[in-house]
Formats: sequence, C-alpha cells, structure tokens
Amino acid sequence: TFPSIRRDTRAEIDLGCIRNNVRQIRSRLPQTTALMAVVKANGYGHGATETAREAIRSGADSLAVAYLDEGIDLRRQGIAVPILILTPIEPRLASLAVRHRLELTVGSADWFERLAACPGFSFKQPLCVHVKLDTGLGRIGIRERSEWERLLPWLRLSSVRVEGVFTHFATAGDPDDGFMRKQAEQFRAMKDWIVNSGIEAGRYHCSNSAAALRYPDVQTDMARIGAALYGLAPRSVAPELRLKPALSLRSRLIHVKKIGRGDRIGYADGYVAREEEWIGTVPIGYADGWSQMMNRTALLAEGEHVPITGKIGMDQLMVRLPREMKVGTTVTLIGRDGGAHISCAELGADLGVAPQEISSSLTSRVQRIYK
Ligand code: PLP
Repeated sequence: TFPSIRRDTRAEIDLGCIRNNVRQIRSRLPQTTALMAVVKANGYGHGATETAREAIRSGADSLAVAYLDEGIDLRRQGIAVPILILTPIEPRLASLAVRHRLELTVGSADWFERLAACPGFSFKQPLCVHVKLDTGLGRIGIRERSEWERLLPWLRLSSVRVEGVFTHFATAGDPDDGFMRKQAEQFRAMKDWIVNSGIEAGRYHCSNSAAALRYPDVQTDMARIGAALYGLAPRSVAPELRLKPALSLRSRLIHVKKIGRGDRIGYADGYVAREEEWIGTVPIGYADGWSQMMNRTALLAEGEHVPITGKIGMDQLMVRLPREMKVGTTVTLIGRDGGAHISCAELGADLGVAPQEISSSLTSRVQRIYK
C-alpha cells in the first residue's frame, strides 16, 4: 500500500538494520572508544533525524553533520546529544551555533581572527571546538607547527573549550594501508605538539568506518562512523561483521509495451531494438538522483535483472523485460527481489564511485518510508 498522492517510487529504510549495524560496530570498538554517528547529507540519504534517533537508541554517543543547517535541523527535531559540525562554518554564524549547542570544527587561526572581527561576537559565550589536523587528506586543517602556534592563543581563551582534536584518513578503505599508517603516525606526532602546549583536548579522533573496523590498533578516543552505520561499507571492510544495508529503493512499472526490430527507445543516441522485445517504463530519473551514470546498469523485476535501455530521463527510465509484465509490477533499484540483489556497494564499485554517493544522491522527490 502506497500512501497518498506520491508516485510509487520510494526509499524504504529498515531501522532494524541501523540498530544491528550500530551494535555490531560497538562490539568491535574498544570499550573506551566513543561512537559518533555521522548523519550528514540527510543521513547519507537515509534521513538524518530518523537514523540519528535510531543510532542514539542503539548506542551511539554523539552525532556529526557537515553543515550548520544540518545541525540546527537535528536540534529542532529535539535531538540533544553532542553534535559536531565537520566543516568550518562562517564565523559570523558562530553565535547561532553556540545557541544550538553545536560543536565547531576549526582548522586555522584565521577562522578565529575572522570571528573576532565579527560585530557583536563576544568571547564570553562558551565556544566548543574540535581542532582539525590535516595529516594527508589535503582538505581542511593545520599542517605545520607554525600554524598550530598561531592557533594556540585562541584555544587558551577561557571561553574556548577544545572538545576534540581530529584528522580524517584519505585511504582507510584501500587494500594498501601504507598511507593510512603514515597519516596515523603524523596524527600521533601532532598530538605531541598539542599535549606539550598544555592544551587538554576532550577527545582525539581519527577513524572513519573503514579505519575503525579494519585497524583496531589505530583506535583513539572516538570513531566517526558513517558508511558502516548504513551498511554501506564494502564487505571487504569487515567481512566477519554482518552489516546490513538499511536502504532499499523500489518503484513500479507504469507502462509496458512490445516493440519491434528497429524501434527506438529514449533520447538521442538511445537504444534501437534488434528484435521484438518488451519494454517497461519506471517513474524515476536523474532528478531523483538516478543519474545517467547508471545508464548501463540494471534493475530487478520478478527476481531478474532487467537492463536499463536508452538514456535515463529526468523523471523516467526504460528497462528491457524478459517477457510481458503487468503494469504495477514492483521493480527494485537497490535491495533484494527474490534471489537477486543490488547493493550500493556493488553499484558503486561498477561505476567507480563510493557506495554512499548513490544513497546520498537520492533527492527529496524520493519519499522515505521507515520500518
Ligand atoms: N569523518 C569525516 C571528517 C568525514 O568527512 C566522514 C565522511 O566522509 C566521516 C568521518 C565518516 O566516514 P565513513 O562514512 O567512511 O565512515
């Protein structure tokens, strides 16, 4: 039964899988390692609030999001646990973050200098920060000792609380652990600068899902877990854990027809039939997040793979069916159908993108249903 006026294309999120995944991950982490659930980008497409609530119920200690608005949304939903904003925010918005008890990422002294120049900002309000160290990803954070020395006076202000110090690995999912170990070593070396400066940081944290699950020896005070929470981590990351993908994406055939040899399907440079065949139309397209990158992939119908034919449109795509099927037949874009299965991990591997790119690309046009 499908609700209301929306089309029959929906992402089904099984919160039981999130629960299972948090528990399995927890069982793998040392007792003293806290678990921060990463629910940025609408919970990697699974819905930030619902997955955050389930993760907390199941044992996560805190949350991380990418941007300020994502953090404020969670507070507005009544979520009370600590929330870290992983990307430096505009300093002029710091008071708003403080008001919502959000913890901020700081990756340079420049950020504090810009903050001090903001009209109306007073260093009387407590500012909770995590210092970001760039140990090799090359994105955000302190790289040089001189940068640390410039940041230090700001961290010594009585209103500034250093809740954490962190870095992010570039290659924790790769078979070769060489660069990850280099980064971990650099993190340890930089920790010495901090400890020797007399700064007492709440927690040191470096591991994402792959690092946390594959390298127990690099664990610090907290792991920041995204992909594994949703069951998106490739099996190679933790083959012995039974992480379960929480999201299935389903739709229905809205039109079925037989075409003849030479008939065309789809926009320019589309598909030309070589023989008589059955074609089904599915109401999902690139404006839903099913990119034209997927042109050469397949969906499942009646437990069988049905290849996409022609180019994916903004709102619809066509599939080649092995036989006549009824309008209304369920099709599965992600998930299980009988004995067949399509996962974000496999699709991502085929397309050369991260599994989470697929789930997090699903737009707000796709209804989320929770079970
Ligand atoms: N920490 C940071 C800084 C991130 O940007 C991310 C996600 O990209 C994560 C942790 C979570 O990573 P994963 O989804 O691999 O667990």
